[in-house]
Amino acid sequence: MSIGRAGADYLKCNLSGLSLLDHPLSRAERTPEVVAVSGVYRGRPGGEESSPGIPRTNLSSPPTAVLTETIDTPKKPTQKITPAYYLDYEATSPSTLIFNRQKPYGKMCGSLCLIAQDGDENQMGKRLTCRREWCNDCGVIEHRRRIARVLDHLLQICPMSYIVITFPLEVRSMMRDPKVLAVLGKKVRRLLRKRGYRKLFTRWHFFGEHGEKYHPHLNVLCDGEWLAPEQLADLKDLIRRKLLPRSIAKTIGKDLDIRYAYRRTNKEMMHTIKYVTKASFTDITWDEPLANALYGFHNGCFAGFWDDPPKWKLTGTDKKFNALLKVRKGIHPVSGKPIKWNKEPIPWALVEAQNPVDIGGGYYLLPPIRSPPSSPVRLNSISELPDSDERKHPNAIRRGIARARLAEPSD
Ligand SMILES: [Zn+2]
Repeated sequence: MSIGRAGADYLKCNLSGLSLLDHPLSRAERTPEVVAVSGVYRGRPGGEESSPGIPRTNLSSPPTAVLTETIDTPKKPTQKITPAYYLDYEATSPSTLIFNRQKPYGKMCGSLCLIAQDGDENQMGKRLTCRREWCNDCGVIEHRRRIARVLDHLLQICPMSYIVITFPLEVRSMMRDPKVLAVLGKKVRRLLRKRGYRKLFTRWHFFGEHGEKYHPHLNVLCDGEWLAPEQLADLKDLIRRKLLPRSIAKTIGKDLDIRYAYRRTNKEMMHTIKYVTKASFTDITWDEPLANALYGFHNGCFAGFWDDPPKWKLTGTDKKFNALLKVRKGIHPVSGKPIKWNKEPIPWALVEAQNPVDIGGGYYLLPPIRSPPSSPVRLNSISELPDSDERKHPNAIRRGIARARLAEPSD
């Protein structure tokens, strides 16, 4: 069923009437953004935080700033460069990316690397990526990073409820706005928090399994007991009323599709986490204007209290994420000692030459820095040696001395 222009206008008015716009977005998203970039949660207890989304591009500095600085040039102490700063620079338009591909090094996705080391000079590296969902270069790396990022929190939920909210086709065109998506996500998190859920994670998938058609659906992972059919019907009704005005649902004769699943085993929970964190916008040509609008959009968002110890463990091949979880906590995965990241990126090619050990997610173990010998070796000239030094004798005499020593009786 399609609706005419007048109908669309009517819907748009009503979507505004959804009070989509009555939440100041600036206040809603600014704090989580800082949290996401630094990787440190500073939100108020029970508040919201979000994971890094597709980086912003609207920076005032020129996109070539990374290249105009020589790596060795000492910086003014006041100049603060964070990894996110460089990630931001990576998020340039595709045309800029093509331009940068022609450069010897610097701005290709994954061409730069940050180095960290612990107190014992054990080193590791982290490749910098562009984080675009449709990037072929960092797709696998970013998916693993997203999994590690959410595992920190989601290991605290067991069993796990999984809700998927899909909007009817008729209102999807009005949801091609990241601000609308952000507000809808926030409404769901607030509603569920009010219903008593303590831990919530939401993340949008923009396209379905086979892409091409915009198909936004909100994935929700949360704690809570299994819902009996009546309880579930009640919850679905509440979500529908909150997200889609009844007048619109009546006009189009459709409503939100809400699926609910309950995950109990480690394997099921991990499978769901991998699915929810996957990239769904894997081809920019599906909707380039939307892709541009999504720059800076923080997709994965947490709400609630996340101060409990882990309730479940990774099993089988998923144990490999434990190394990434340690790195996220600022710990060297082998030595277990705190690491410090150097904020100056270096070309990945230099790191690759050191035979790094890949631990997944674009993180690598590097050989420790070779420390200089404790007493410096002095290369003496033979004339400086005392006359008694054997090294002054010709080789034939030195061999004779060695033979005589061997012949000496030992006691
Ligand atoms: Zn990339």
